[in-house]
Amino acid sequence: MQSLDDLLATGVAGKRVLVRSDLNVPLKDGVIGDDGRIKASIPTLRALASAGARVVVTAHLGRPKGTVDPAYSLAPVAARLGELLGKPVAFASDVVGYSAQETVASLKDGEIALLENVRFEAAETSKDDAERGAFADKLASLADAFVDDAFGAVHRKHASVYDVAERLPHYAGGLVLAELTVLRKLTTDTDRPYAVVLGGAKVSDKLGVIANLLGSVDRLLIGGGMAYTFLKAQGHEVGKSLLEADQLDVVRGFLAEAEKRGVDLVLPVDILAADDFSPTANVVIVPATEIPADREGLDIGPQSRELFASKLADAKTVFWNGPMGVFEFDAFAGGTLAVAEALTKVDGLTVVGGGDSAAAVRKLGFSDDQFGHISTGGGASLEYLEGKQLPGITILES
Ligand code: ADP
Ligand code: MG
Repeated sequence: MQSLDDLLATGVAGKRVLVRSDLNVPLKDGVIGDDGRIKASIPTLRALASAGARVVVTAHLGRPKGTVDPAYSLAPVAARLGELLGKPVAFASDVVGYSAQETVASLKDGEIALLENVRFEAAETSKDDAERGAFADKLASLADAFVDDAFGAVHRKHASVYDVAERLPHYAGGLVLAELTVLRKLTTDTDRPYAVVLGGAKVSDKLGVIANLLGSVDRLLIGGGMAYTFLKAQGHEVGKSLLEADQLDVVRGFLAEAEKRGVDLVLPVDILAADDFSPTANVVIVPATEIPADREGLDIGPQSRELFASKLADAKTVFWNGPMGVFEFDAFAGGTLAVAEALTKVDGLTVVGGGDSAAAVRKLGFSDDQFGHISTGGGASLEYLEGKQLPGITILES
């Protein structure tokens, strides 16, 4: 796989370089919430601009469904990017149309332009190869080389991720390389004990990753909403807790597989059982095997927190995806807090993946540097750990 450094070594002064960035920030009424992704995209853009490239950035924002929707315009992002870079960023009001062509043609060496939301074009996400290809031809005609720096989109076979790379000399940007370096450590020559903590709302989102991880981890800790389907599969009643009854057979299979492979599969032993899904619900702490019929589990209990922390204490590698409880309500954030704290004490590599998980650790007051790595691409990192081919990576390797 060729990298940004390889491209820079060829000399980029005067060359037009198309960069696929991840600028998918929370935006409400034109106001940007967390600008972390814009900040993260800057090193690659700056390196290219400093070397004299004419930098053309393409990115998506939200899900505008293939039509022009001003609510999803990247214009505010162009402005913020300019502020952060300390120099203006030209903005094209379309993706590959007249404005894009004019904007790119007027770029001088070292200047940066951002194209309008690539998902305004229905062809970007089309399942039809020819349709995506025709659009990718137009994108590719705007540049001499392509850099993919959008790790959060590498699991998508989209025109600006996959097809455009087929049409131009292609290179992995700094962000994509950093993510891959960490994820490789979770799948090859992993330092052991290797523990994975999974939580979040739904088991069905994470079936593939659980199946694959059972072949590689030493310990698998399950909390959050998905724990109740595991408890039920063991024959316990879970009251009104989240339950995916249609996954019980699959989960029974996981329990048997874990046993066969000697994986230490750890479930909560106590639960905060609430009488309502509410921040002010009445709560009792009950054994995980005795959840009352009229209550729902919204967080793992104090003994479970200790148990989980003890299973992480001597781990050399930890991957964590999915909150342990409904952390959005302070009363049910304790389990997530305990796991986050346990990760900060691990003497080894710790990786946090998943949008809500990353949001949770920041909300709970942790700083990014207390963890080995916080993945910018939740879906992409899970698919990587599932052992799936990621189209955006496959094409960079070709
Ligand atoms: P990520 O985005 O990190 O992959 P998910 O999207 O899978 O995480 O799950 C996050 C959601 O899971 C949160 O909104 C949280 O409130 C919810 N959740 C966690 N535990 C429970 C629970 N016991 N009952 C209901 N929802 C839960
Ligand atoms: Mg989520």
